[in-house]
Amino acid sequence: MTRVVAGNWKMHHGPRATRQFFSDFNPDVRPGAVRVAFFPPDVSLRAARESVRILVEFGVQHIHWEDSGAFTGETSAGMAKDAGASLALIGHSERRHVFGETDREVGLKVEAAARAGLVPVVCVGELLEERKAGRLERVLRRQVAAFTAPLGQCDRYLVAYEPVWAIGTGETATPADASEAHAIVRSALGELGGCPILYGGSVKPANAAALMSAPDVDGVLVGGASLDARVFARIVEAAAT
Ligand code: PEP
Repeated sequence: MTRVVAGNWKMHHGPRATRQFFSDFNPDVRPGAVRVAFFPPDVSLRAARESVRILVEFGVQHIHWEDSGAFTGETSAGMAKDAGASLALIGHSERRHVFGETDREVGLKVEAAARAGLVPVVCVGELLEERKAGRLERVLRRQVAAFTAPLGQCDRYLVAYEPVWAIGTGETATPADASEAHAIVRSALGELGGCPILYGGSVKPANAAALMSAPDVDGVLVGGASLDARVFARIVEAAAT
């Protein structure tokens, strides 16, 4: 499976910073050796598409589950597609834990992505207290069960395992931790489990190669280390080797 390296910019890089990023982003990889994707803020999507110099995919960080309506501040899957996105992050831990997104909403958003023809990248992951209480498998199976039915309506999809305790904290799961969780996610997906499963949580150039060499880890979803073009290029290059 071709490895995937995706950058989630969160609320960083407006249009001007986005153009600067892509003028500096030039990873030394053969075309097609790695699937590279970016999730810029919606307002920077156009600048990203206009200034990128290599073949990459673009996605949005968040969609609403309705196709249109009186939902101030929201963007629908169809609108994201129309603006040039092909992917949508769904259920990122910041959406779940900062904005209170529920498993049910995650399922509805996967359904909305399927309707619009957007490829969902659905995120799952446990809190530190859940891991410490031995509930890793139960939490992952519950989160996955909430979106398997709509996932079956999508032509393409990805899943990301992102332990909440490793996101933006500098703490990284070991390659063995990541493999164990990915195997649980794959098994919970059942017959839908042939998709790429990405690891996310404080991935950096120094740990990317080891994580991507772990069994069942098909790529990485990178937050902080995707904001610097040269640093992110090193992660893309690590995926190509
Ligand atoms: C993320 O935002 O999905 C993420 C994994 O962030 P970080 O790499 O900064 O931990």
